[in-house]
Amino acid sequence: VSGRVYLIGAGPGDPELMTLKAVRALGAADVVLVDDLVERGCLAYARPDARIVEVGKRGGCKSTPQIFIDRMMARLAASGHVVARLKGGDPLVFGRGGEELEALRAAGVEVEVVPGITAGIGAPAALGIPVTHRGLARAVTFVTGHAEADWRALVRSRATLVIYMGLRRLPLIVAALLRDGMDPRMPACVIEKATLKAQREVVAPLERLPLAAAELAGPAIIVVGEVVRFAGIREALKAA
Ligand code: SAH
Repeated sequence: VSGRVYLIGAGPGDPELMTLKAVRALGAADVVLVDDLVERGCLAYARPDARIVEVGKRGGCKSTPQIFIDRMMARLAASGHVVARLKGGDPLVFGRGGEELEALRAAGVEVEVVPGITAGIGAPAALGIPVTHRGLARAVTFVTGHAEADWRALVRSRATLVIYMGLRRLPLIVAALLRDGMDPRMPACVIEKATLKAQREVVAPLERLPLAAAELAGPAIIVVGEVVRFAGIREALKAA
C-alpha cells in the first residue's frame, strides 16, 4: 500500500466497540497517532512493530499542537508510511477530526475515514437509554457544553440533549435549561468513562443533577430528556 492516513474512530471506550474496519486499518499501520481519550486496550490491534505516538492531552495539561500532528501525518504519508490516526468515539464528532481531514487533504495526502461509535450514542446505550423513542423523543441533539449554546431553542425543540464536554459547566448548563423553561424534574443523567470497567453514572431529576454528579471527574456525557427514564438496564456485554 502507498502512504496514506486512516482517520479512525476507536469508539467510546470498550475496545470491543471498535469496528472491524477500524481493527483492520489499525493493523495495517506503520505508525499510530493516538489521542489520550482512547482506551489503551485498542492498541492491541496495532502491529507489534508499529510506532505508537501519543498526542493530545486533555484538560489543562500541555497538548500537542494541532499543526505538529497535521505536519507529522502528512510527512509520514508522503514518505510512504501507512498512518493510523486513532481518535475517541467517531473521528469527526467534536474532536477536531474535521480540521485534521482538511489539513491532510490540503497537503495532498490520501485519507480514509473509518467512523466509530460516538460517546453520545455509546454512553446512553451503556445504560439502555434510547436517544430517540416514539412518543418520547423524535429528535436528538449533540451539543458541546464548552461554548454557549442556544439553550432556549434546545429546550423548545423537545429533543433529547446529549452534551459532550459539559461536566465542568454542568451547574451553568442546568441553570440555563431551567431558566429557559425546562421542567426541573426532567430525567437527566451523567455517564462517566462509559463502556469501561470504571464506568460510573448518576441519574437524577435535572434540578438535582449538578449536586448528584459533583463527585464525577469525566470524561462524561450528559443526557437530558424523557428517554432517560430507561436508564438502569445496564448493557450486558460490558468490557470484561
Ligand atoms: N470524538 C469523540 C468526542 C471527543 S470530545 C466522540 O465521538 O465520542 C471529548 C468528549 O467526549 C468528552 O469530554 C466526553 O464528553 C465525551 N466522551 C468521550 N469518551 C467518553 C466516555 N467513554 N464516557 C463518557 N464520555 C465520553
